[in-house]
Amino acid sequence: MEARPEYVRPAVQEGAQKLTEKQSIHEQLRDAQAAEEPKVVVSSSMAGVTMNATELQSAGYVYVYDNRTGDRSVVNRNMLEQQLQKRREDGTYAFTTQKPELEREYGYLKCLLHKDDPNRKLYDRMGLAICTKDNLTASHDLRVHMEKRHRREWATIDGERIEEERKRARDNENNLADAIRLLAERDSSQNTRGKSNG
Ligand SMILES: [Zn+2]
Repeated sequence: MEARPEYVRPAVQEGAQKLTEKQSIHEQLRDAQAAEEPKVVVSSSMAGVTMNATELQSAGYVYVYDNRTGDRSVVNRNMLEQQLQKRREDGTYAFTTQKPELEREYGYLKCLLHKDDPNRKLYDRMGLAICTKDNLTASHDLRVHMEKRHRREWATIDGERIEEERKRARDNENNLADAIRLLAERDSSQNTRGKSNG
């Protein structure tokens, strides 16, 4: 009879101990997830949306640029120094935090606002200025040039392009809808012998 409580007590204590262990592990997991949260937010934002410098810095990330191609990437501040110390095979540094100027002498692409551009007549009607730049190296450089030198004109041109794409998408949708409607009409006219025609 006296042995019973002694049997019970350790079991209860053990159970209580297990419970606190469980809780503390759970707390650790919860805290760890909270600490990782900013990383997750940044990586999902990086998929499509460009973050501004302040947003990046507050998340502990900064932009670095390949100083030859201008390709931009995101680096954690802790890794920044290491990234900036990376060298090319020829021993020169590869990255910079300053957005590089990308206008080289051996390019061949003309600025969209060049007088020889196929859309020049349209651009004249739109009142866009003429640019003599004709030695851009790649479509990426052209874009950088447009965004940097002709921000307003680029917004106009790009806006036209986006609107055109929207219109094309709309037309496609309409064509598809027409095709479906025609098929449906043909089916129903076959079934009802032209009753629904009108
Ligand atoms: Zn230009």
